[in-house]
Amino acid sequence: MTAKIIDGNALARQIRSEVAVRAAKLVTAGCTPGLAVILVGEDPASTVYVRHKVKDCEESGIRSILDRLPADTTEEALLARVRELNADPSVHGVLVQLPLPKHMDSHRVIEAIAPEKDVDGFHVSNAGALMTGTPRFRPCTPYGVMRMLDHAGVKLDGVEAVVVGRSNIVGKPQAMMLLERNATVTICHSRTRDLAEHCRRADVLIAAVGRARMITGDMVKPGAVVIDVGMNRIPDGPDAGKLCGDVDFDSVSKVASAITPVPGGVGPMTRAMLLVNTIEAAERAAGRG
Ligand code: NDP
Repeated sequence: MTAKIIDGNALARQIRSEVAVRAAKLVTAGCTPGLAVILVGEDPASTVYVRHKVKDCEESGIRSILDRLPADTTEEALLARVRELNADPSVHGVLVQLPLPKHMDSHRVIEAIAPEKDVDGFHVSNAGALMTGTPRFRPCTPYGVMRMLDHAGVKLDGVEAVVVGRSNIVGKPQAMMLLERNATVTICHSRTRDLAEHCRRADVLIAAVGRARMITGDMVKPGAVVIDVGMNRIPDGPDAGKLCGDVDFDSVSKVASAITPVPGGVGPMTRAMLLVNTIEAAERAAGRG
């Protein structure tokens, strides 16, 4: 079997153009959607992510406000800026790029974002809303995965879904979204006994671990759908420096029925879903959502 490739770039392009249509309608109605992004310090990966977010907004007709604060900004000053953006009616989404410098408490900062502007979906009230079946903002990465599964026509009702990883931003919300769609969900993590056995039961396998190519073909049920959230840099060898996922693409694509590539899979979808959340926030604020 050779797996069908689920193309995240193509789907993300389609989603961006849908967002652009919605943004143009809002502008016509007198409300320009706005996303504020706060970057504290100069972490190189965060700087690239933030640049992408700003560029995506520009291309979709969303106004972006980029706040670059020095690494030694105090937590109080950051909280004050968040509160200012919360109160600004021209700003519909507020995002603080993680990770924050060590002297700051990320949890406290995220909780300071107004839940109705928390387009990352990380605020405890948005996490709770997802958990209790009344979602407002879904975290962008797992939300993007769900869109990919739907786009690929993957049936979720009653299937065995296995999520490897239990972080608050990917694994846990992913599991909730799959449960919402009536999959039977198993969450695996670093203490899971016999990970391979759990993975081999999965009709839908989602890898969100952060370990290069750890899911190999022998861990995958023939015909399974495999989604690779991982983004890892290969440390050495002939591919040193290249981006790769948590899934060993070469062996798994011979067993799975469908698979997402890295790059070009979940990454671009995460970016696209931030735009979707922002436009939804603006539509709600304008009374159109
Ligand atoms: P975290 O480090 O927060 O979580 C990793 C999870 O994997 C933890 O729950 C951990 O278990 C589990 N884990 C670690 N080692 C093993 C193992 N050997 N066996 C089973 N489980 C294990 O990472 P994130 O959730 O933030 O991200 C996961 C991956 O996804 C990373 O590669 C990240 O770069 C990528 N990512 C990609 C995005 C995209 O847009 N494509 C967006 C966000 C993340 P435990 O809880 O027990 O420690």
